Amino acid sequence: MKLFDSHAHYNDEKFNQDREEILNQVYEEGIARLVCAGYNLESSKKAIEIAQSHDFVYATVGISPNDIPNFENEQIDIKDFFFQDVFLEQLEQIKELAKKEKVVAIGEIGLDYYWNKENKEEQKFSFMKQIEVANQLQLPIVIHTREAVYDTLEILKHEICPVKKGVFHCCPLNLDLIKEGLKLDFYISFAGAITFKNAKNAQEAIKLVPMERILIETDSPYLAPEPKRGTRNDSRNVKYMAQKIADVKGISLEQVVETTYQNACKIFEIKY
Ligand SMILES: [Zn+2]
Repeated sequence: MKLFDSHAHYNDEKFNQDREEILNQVYEEGIARLVCAGYNLESSKKAIEIAQSHDFVYATVGISPNDIPNFENEQIDIKDFFFQDVFLEQLEQIKELAKKEKVVAIGEIGLDYYWNKENKEEQKFSFMKQIEVANQLQLPIVIHTREAVYDTLEILKHEICPVKKGVFHCCPLNLDLIKEGLKLDFYISFAGAITFKNAKNAQEAIKLVPMERILIETDSPYLAPEPKRGTRNDSRNVKYMAQKIADVKGISLEQVVETTYQNACKIFEIKY
């Protein structure tokens, strides 16, 4: 079986002790492709480094809503000035990184009002600016959205930068978000949450998305699925997401593995 983990963070410090070992292991155990996602400048550079030294790894570069510059404690008038200045400088660097070999998307980018409620305007600004960069470079975007469904959709529908394609990474099991995302032609990437026994809407969400729009991911090292919950996650666990989807859709595991692999190759423009 050849699996594609569409989103993992082998650039995370939790893999500092055994990064090479674990990458070799997941490859040997059937993870034929994976995307290592950046979330700030440093992790984006690291993702590229890992991708360029492993044939089966690809990278995304971007600044997540939880990693944008924060000047919360400054006075309001200088805060805006600092923010724009520092962010736009980082954006230039992201743009340069995005042109490097094996970078397949801008991400993860988006809005997160769960962890950060105080800087919504800055989050929206940085999300839109990074979408612009993705459009200029004709790259898809990888979206992180948490407790910000309405604002996320509003930006995605925004006509200032209409050419967008991308993925809802670790997609929240919010049925309205999924319906609207599908209308916009986005891919829905399911992570460990669909395997949790107390997950609300997991079945409905899976049923809602046609097979040709589904990706699977681990978001390693976080969010390990059942039955590995609470342990450090790695790409080998993506099989549990595939199995859950197969069960809900009443199709074979092989079919889910094959289709999600093809879908990921398509959106990230990776040779099949
Ligand atoms: Zn992530």
